[in-house]
Amino acid sequence: MRAVSVLPRIVDPQRLREETFRSDKTKKDKTGVVLLSGGLDSATVAWFARTECDKLYAMTFDYGQTHRREIQCALELGALLKVKAHRLIELPFMRLTGGSSLVGDGSIPKEGLTGGIPSTWVPQRNSIFLAIAFSWAEVVGADRLYAGMNSVDYSGYPDCRPEFIKAVNSALNLASKRFVETGRGIAIVTPLMNLSKKRIVSWGLELGVPYQKTTSCYSGEEEACGSCDSCLIRRKAFRGLGLEDPIRYKEE
Ligand SMILES: [Zn+2]
Repeated sequence: MRAVSVLPRIVDPQRLREETFRSDKTKKDKTGVVLLSGGLDSATVAWFARTECDKLYAMTFDYGQTHRREIQCALELGALLKVKAHRLIELPFMRLTGGSSLVGDGSIPKEGLTGGIPSTWVPQRNSIFLAIAFSWAEVVGADRLYAGMNSVDYSGYPDCRPEFIKAVNSALNLASKRFVETGRGIAIVTPLMNLSKKRIVSWGLELGVPYQKTTSCYSGEEEACGSCDSCLIRRKAFRGLGLEDPIRYKEE
C-alpha cells in the first residue's frame, strides 16, 4: 500500500480558471459529480461539467431550507443535463441544529449586503455537502467533484473561500481509500471561484444554461422577492450585461 506521504492534487484557483476557459478544447472523457442546488451558480458549473464529462452525476441536498423551490429546480436541471444518476440527500438534522435564517431560525434579511456574515449563513454547510458528495464521487469512480462556490459577488460565507476548498480537498483525499491505494485523488473543481457574477452569467449564457429554470431567491416563492442578498446580486449581474433576468420578480 502506498503511504500517504504527500498531499494530493489540490485546487489552484489560477490554474483552474485557465483550465475553465480552455474548456472547448477539453476532451469529454471524465467522470464527474456536480453539486446542484438549483441556483444560478451551480447550474453554470453543471453545464460546464457537462462539456468535460461523459459520465455526469448530480447531487442535491434537502437540508430543511425554507426556499424549498430550489430542490424542484435542481431536479429539473438534472433531467435536462441527462445525468447518469441524481441523488436527493435529506439532511433533516440541519434544521434541528439550526443557527441560520435559511432553515427557519429567524427571518431572512431584506436590507441587502450590509457587511459582516449575514444570518443566512448555515454553519458548516459546504463541509457537510462536500464530504457527502466526495463519498459518492469515490463510489462512482469520479475524477472531479464540481461545485459552484464563489468568493467575489457573495455574502461572505467562510466556506465559499478558496483557502477552505483547498484545505477540504486535501483532507478528503487523505481520507480516501482510492487515494491511499493508488495515489489517484478527486479534484474539487470550483471554476466560478474568482469570477464576478456578471462574468458567471455571461459564461453561462455561452454554455447554454437555461437560467429561467434556476432560482436564487431566499423567499422560495414562485416570484423572486427582488430584495434579498441573493436576488440583488443576481439581478445586478444580468443588468450589468444589459439583460433582464429571465425569472419573474414580484414587483413587476
Ligand atoms: Zn429574493
